[in-house]
Amino acid sequence: MTDPVVFQGGPIRLMQEDDLAADMPDALLVEDGLIRAIGTFDDVRRAATGAPRQVDLDGRTLLPGFVDAHTHTLLHGSGLEWVDLSDVKTVDDIVDRLSRRAAERPGSPVHGYGYDQSLLQDRRHPSARDLDRVTTTQRVQIQHASGHGYALNTNALRDFGITAQTPTPTGGRIDRDDRGEPTGVVFDAACDLLTGPEGVKVSNHGPNFHLPSNDDDVSRMFELGQTSLLAAGITTICDAQVTELEMAAYLQARDSGRLRMRAHLMLLSNKLEHLKALGLTSRLGDDFLELYGVKVYADGSVIARTAYLGAHGCCGDPTPSGYLYHEPAELQQLITTAHAMGLRTGTHAQGDVPIGLVLDAIERARATHPRPGLVHRIEHCGFPTDQQVGAMARLGVVPVPQPMQVHLYGDSLIEEFGDWGGSFYPYGTFEQAGVPVVISSDAPVTSPGPLRAAWAAISRQTAAGDVAGSPRQQASRPAALRGITAAPAKLLGRSDVGRLVAGGQADLVLADTDPVTCALDDLATAVVTETWLAGSPVWSQTSGLAPVLTGS
Ligand SMILES: [Zn+2]
Repeated sequence: MTDPVVFQGGPIRLMQEDDLAADMPDALLVEDGLIRAIGTFDDVRRAATGAPRQVDLDGRTLLPGFVDAHTHTLLHGSGLEWVDLSDVKTVDDIVDRLSRRAAERPGSPVHGYGYDQSLLQDRRHPSARDLDRVTTTQRVQIQHASGHGYALNTNALRDFGITAQTPTPTGGRIDRDDRGEPTGVVFDAACDLLTGPEGVKVSNHGPNFHLPSNDDDVSRMFELGQTSLLAAGITTICDAQVTELEMAAYLQARDSGRLRMRAHLMLLSNKLEHLKALGLTSRLGDDFLELYGVKVYADGSVIARTAYLGAHGCCGDPTPSGYLYHEPAELQQLITTAHAMGLRTGTHAQGDVPIGLVLDAIERARATHPRPGLVHRIEHCGFPTDQQVGAMARLGVVPVPQPMQVHLYGDSLIEEFGDWGGSFYPYGTFEQAGVPVVISSDAPVTSPGPLRAAWAAISRQTAAGDVAGSPRQQASRPAALRGITAAPAKLLGRSDVGRLVAGGQADLVLADTDPVTCALDDLATAVVTETWLAGSPVWSQTSGLAPVLTGS
């Protein structure tokens, strides 16, 4: 139950599907967690059951809470707690920054997040020998910006028993020197080796995001990740890789009243047989927490250069060519099984070969088990051919890319692959083919910031100021703004969020900029000042996260 509140005094953008600029009402009433009325101030005032509190927007814009269709709350929170390596320029910078943390916390493992070899002057991953300069007595592990792998020091290699005799698992990578000794770089399916004897294992079903942790670590990191999403105005998410560790974090947050967003969970495909055994063939959950579907991996990461980029090859010694997580028949089996059960799939695929395998698998699954309305997704979908985009339109397959990666990594992709590299995440091509434009963060891979991400999808401006790809790959502004609101909401099967509609959820964002009419570059710097969930403020620029209400 929430008291009635009327918002007025600034643009109210309903983000309806058809015309974003139309129908700007004067006022909006929320009550009992829902939007009760939209219209003139007098109309909505009369619709309230009691005397409503008034919130003067004071020129700020009222928008629906943003929807992030692909994010990782717990991993994002871990990244926020670990040493930030997202802006380092050299391996020496990495060593310096980690050394400060090692000195501050003697005896504890040193964790970092966010380095990217393609943005380092050294153009390589740090080696165990580099990281031994941080400490030889503590474990050092730094996660790559993609989340798909780590660089480790010798102590960590030793702790996790990774030696010349350790076989490289299918769908994984352990870099080695001429004598076969591991050099400290461990990626994708090989990350299972880093979770400790008690840790969650995912085998060749994905990169393992986890490091050894206890319950307190997990709930603290979850809260950090959630707070960051709320501060970006995100009130509904799809968590794109849920194992038992993430599931425990969501359930614990909900049971303690600390889940302050609507979360749709994609369980990792290593759980598919468990779901089948339990007979979980339909939606399970409520307005705040829902079992949404199954996450499948087809190939590796573009920014780590482990994606399977087919004829474009990748990327020279010591980096191997990209790889597939599963043999094609196994991928087909996973997608067919999920589809036959009525579960949505979201398959990570970057290169045109794995994208083709996913589309073939979906087409075959649909031929044997027609299930109209069951939507399948391709996560990221970096380099589809035009023909594949046509197939997505025909099959109702929705790509879920992250346009801020075009901004952050476009320069290095163009440098390495030429014009083809600049065609990464071709939003305009999707839009022109009638394929939904859906924008997401993949936090922590890019920082949550939906308005800035919309700007990146429209402008395709790289960090160096160039434009990646051709103008036809740029999204229109209406499509990009729907891509952070109504379109991902629809993808999550919801008509009650992602737009402002009477009877819908009162999940709201107050922003200092009107995204519909502002100059394009102002979208990149627009600031969220307040976030509301179910009719109550949950985060504000001035006071941060609202306290948990007991008894709610
Ligand atoms: Zn992801």
